[in-house]
Amino acid sequence: MDKITIKNLEVFANHGVFPEENALGQKFVLSAVLFTDTRMAGRTDALEYSVHYGDVSQFMTEFMQKHTFRLIEAAAEQLAEALLLAFPRLQAVRLELKKPWAPVRLPLETVSVEIERGWHTAYIALGSNMGDKKAWLDGAVQALQDTRGCRVTAVADYIVTKPYGGVEQDDFLNSALELQTLLTPQELLSRLHEIEKDAKRERIVHWGPRTLDLDILLYDDRVIDMAELTIPHKEMHLRDFVLVPLAQIAPHMRHPLLGKTIEELKTEVVR
Ligand code: ATP
Ligand code: CA
Ligand code: CA
Repeated sequence: MDKITIKNLEVFANHGVFPEENALGQKFVLSAVLFTDTRMAGRTDALEYSVHYGDVSQFMTEFMQKHTFRLIEAAAEQLAEALLLAFPRLQAVRLELKKPWAPVRLPLETVSVEIERGWHTAYIALGSNMGDKKAWLDGAVQALQDTRGCRVTAVADYIVTKPYGGVEQDDFLNSALELQTLLTPQELLSRLHEIEKDAKRERIVHWGPRTLDLDILLYDDRVIDMAELTIPHKEMHLRDFVLVPLAQIAPHMRHPLLGKTIEELKTEVVR
């Protein structure tokens, strides 16, 4: 990915654990690597295709002066998120925040934190087989769209499918959506659980009837195998009700463990 770098922007602001720091203020020094595709800007010589480093510098200065944080970790975290939300062409940002006058009464040169944050692409499976199924799915799409740091970029058609797992129950309505997100996989899972809970979901029978089921199918090309979270979803490649909607919005996406595209996996399962 191309980058634009801002180095050592000085800002006088009021962050720190001590009350004196919040009252008197001190100098902070910011560096930012802006990850963005500069190809179009490079070919056309038009600013509208780039991330304006002057605007970014101004934004960082105002942000640092408008807020007061105790920790430079918090200042960096919040600033990175604000930048990613404010500048649509910014894919990721590496931010270094230095505090040259850190009051530790020892002769250090600077203290700093450096973080890298960015947008990730996730695919979510949606399912409902109780009540107004379409309304539950619509509500989930809207709830994700309204989540800070989440943008829904594609939603597959809703399809009616037969229940899976041997429990006698009503047909399902299933779909899949594509999400741009600033959340980590664990944060995204927690958010999905909240949305399920808001949909009055109760966990009674495993694979039994539910108002709303939201599963993370893919998250970039990450592979996660933990007790509470498995990515890619461990059964996605076996389920037609997952692969049919997913193939509609992401046919060429590759399963990071099986090495096959979603379209290929779909044709293996759907006869
Ligand atoms: P299945 O996972 O086979 O589709 P289910 O969706 O009915 O079954 P739930 O009862 O909704 O299962 O979820 C049980 C747990 O699965 C969740 O609490 C969560 O911690 C865990 N889990 C693991 N990987 C994922 C994932 N990729 N997406 C969502 N939940 C996951
Ligand atoms: Ca599920
Ligand atoms: Ca689930």
